Amino acid sequence: MAQPLLDTTQLCVHTITTKPWPIETAIDRYAAHGVQGMTVWRDALAGRDIAATGQRIRDAGLAVVSLCRGGFFPAETAAGRQAAIDDNRRAIDEAAALGAPLIVLVCGAALGQPLPVSRQQIQAGIEAVLPQAAAAGVKLAVEPLHPMYADSRSAINTLGQANDLCAAIASPWVGVAVDVYHLWWDPHLQAEIQRCGEIGRIFAFHICDWRTPTDDLLNDRGLMGEGCIPIRQIRGWVEEAGFGGFHEVEIFSNRYWTTDQETFLGRIVEVYLASG
Ligand code: ZN
Repeated sequence: MAQPLLDTTQLCVHTITTKPWPIETAIDRYAAHGVQGMTVWRDALAGRDIAATGQRIRDAGLAVVSLCRGGFFPAETAAGRQAAIDDNRRAIDEAAALGAPLIVLVCGAALGQPLPVSRQQIQAGIEAVLPQAAAAGVKLAVEPLHPMYADSRSAINTLGQANDLCAAIASPWVGVAVDVYHLWWDPHLQAEIQRCGEIGRIFAFHICDWRTPTDDLLNDRGLMGEGCIPIRQIRGWVEEAGFGGFHEVEIFSNRYWTTDQETFLGRIVEVYLASG
């Protein structure tokens, strides 16, 4: 058997991947499995002292990699857009309290509104909260979503669009999150990774796999190796482009959420190490 090229040094798991676990359990079990980083979903913080939770993560030896998620800026009414900006301001406060250096943005789309209009509102929304993010020392990562979500979850559907948006905003506090689930199909992916990588704008790298058939458009992501995504190749591209951060396992799965989470986490680590 070939020697694995990966160890757990860059392995991060999103709390939503093990959604049935309260965050306290996730912290303990991730640490026990040698996971080095945790991306925290905001729902996992409900009812908690956020600063204390961040400290607990660090005390367990884990890095707080990012907070998921902000965004959802577009809305047909001014009041709706303002409500989104207010929520993103709260997310920035939460990230700062948690000690998370980054917020991942699922940018949003307003159903029935032309996508170019939603894209303008996304840029305006990011620009509105950017001074607060910079003052708090929290970066913002635009995560392009697969076009199947263009109706209501994101009008930013390719890395090219995310790069164009970052170029228009032109702030060192705004970059991209490369998620293989959303981007693997794009013929321009390698070139666009190079484009943002060479200016240091790749802020995050998310991994999972694409199952065939996919039974649920949102919650049927596969474990790495279960699908058709050339994860290793894409990881090579982001590394060639200068990214040296965490490999974040982000799996929404009705299938896995109903299984034993301890077994699932063990399997995540196993397939991750074997994927080198
Ligand atoms: Zn992602």
